[in-house]
Amino acid sequence: MRKWFFGIALLCVIGVPFLFEYETATNPSSDPAPIVVEPVVEVPEVTPKLYGIDVKAKVIIEDVVKPNENLSSILSNYEVPLQEIDLLAKRAEGVFDVRKINVHKSYKLICNADSVAQFMIYEPNKIEYVVFDLNDSNEVYLGQKEVVTIEKSLTGTIESSLYNAMIEAGASPQLVDNVADVFGWQLDFGRLQIGDKYKIIYEEKEVEGESAGLGPILGAEFIHESNPFYAVRFDQGNGPDYFDEKGHSLRKAFLKYPVKFTRISSRYSGRRFHPVLKRYKSHKGTDYAAPTGTPIRAAGDGIITEARYKGGNGNYVKIRHNSTYSTQYLHMSRIANGMKQGAKVSQGETIGYVGSTGLANGPHLCYRFWKNGVQVDALKIELPPSEPITENHRVVYDSVMISMLEQLQNVSYPNESFQILAGD
Ligand SMILES: [Zn+2]
Repeated sequence: MRKWFFGIALLCVIGVPFLFEYETATNPSSDPAPIVVEPVVEVPEVTPKLYGIDVKAKVIIEDVVKPNENLSSILSNYEVPLQEIDLLAKRAEGVFDVRKINVHKSYKLICNADSVAQFMIYEPNKIEYVVFDLNDSNEVYLGQKEVVTIEKSLTGTIESSLYNAMIEAGASPQLVDNVADVFGWQLDFGRLQIGDKYKIIYEEKEVEGESAGLGPILGAEFIHESNPFYAVRFDQGNGPDYFDEKGHSLRKAFLKYPVKFTRISSRYSGRRFHPVLKRYKSHKGTDYAAPTGTPIRAAGDGIITEARYKGGNGNYVKIRHNSTYSTQYLHMSRIANGMKQGAKVSQGETIGYVGSTGLANGPHLCYRFWKNGVQVDALKIELPPSEPITENHRVVYDSVMISMLEQLQNVSYPNESFQILAGD
């Protein structure tokens, strides 16, 4: 008996999976319709939600903040007791500053069927919202709507300026600024040529189908005087930056010190005692004390916009590096040969020699730094990194770059059926 039983059991163990396999193998496509057993489960009714709040059978009132209205006056209109409003304002501390409830912004009140207000929702911007819970808990909390990131492309040809071309193509002024930032070192946007053209692939955030702000530029092509310039966004560990098709950074660093072997004798300051004028005056430069005749180096590539002798500045040179940055070098004993207005200079090139011409009580270089037309502290300004793609990121970068250039190539220039191919 035991042997029999064992034999049947063994047959079952071997046979059942075999049979199963046979079954599936012979009926690959002509399966009979599966028998569906309807589960006897009640399908829950979908409860409508707004800001994560169940609004079934609720009354929703929408309004805008009127001049001179605040949290207190708004809620008083809905018969929320002052004590409760005070408590809500206190609970809001650290979550949302209720003094920032702005005129013309919209808010909603969620009321029960008896028109008793239960929640107030204020939207400080297109993405965030603040919930004031008017029920017993009196909580105040921040929420965020779902943000969808959409990849977009934009292209155009320059007729007058980049700004006009991009605005005409539907860009926001912010996007124009972003493009100028990406290519700031490669292109002088004040000197573009008619017929120069661009393609950009960028991200835009959308909330409920409406634009809620720009994301970064992912890649771009700019054709200037028939030469292509590329930008590919990539992060190799120190934050995203832009690189060209060879993996070079689009940013160029400034020399930290425009004179070698020196010491800083006076820093940029809003107020310092002027050693010659003997009175307090702002000092919008960095002074480097150095012996007369020490070479002064251009802090970066650029074009000389001024090279002359003028009053307190003495002999000086000013260099425009790009549409964002300019630098100026004062009190030179002598301006170097060939350094004239309009001359091109390379980073590190000698542009003049330390001296004490103009208002100076000893030989030094007064180095001044402009960003967007405003003088800033050269030692404090945060300049983006300029390292190329490193060896360990090369493979990943190349695949990102190649697919971005392909993506760019799939965007057509306006009124153009053929593509301009990248070439050296
Ligand atoms: Zn100075």
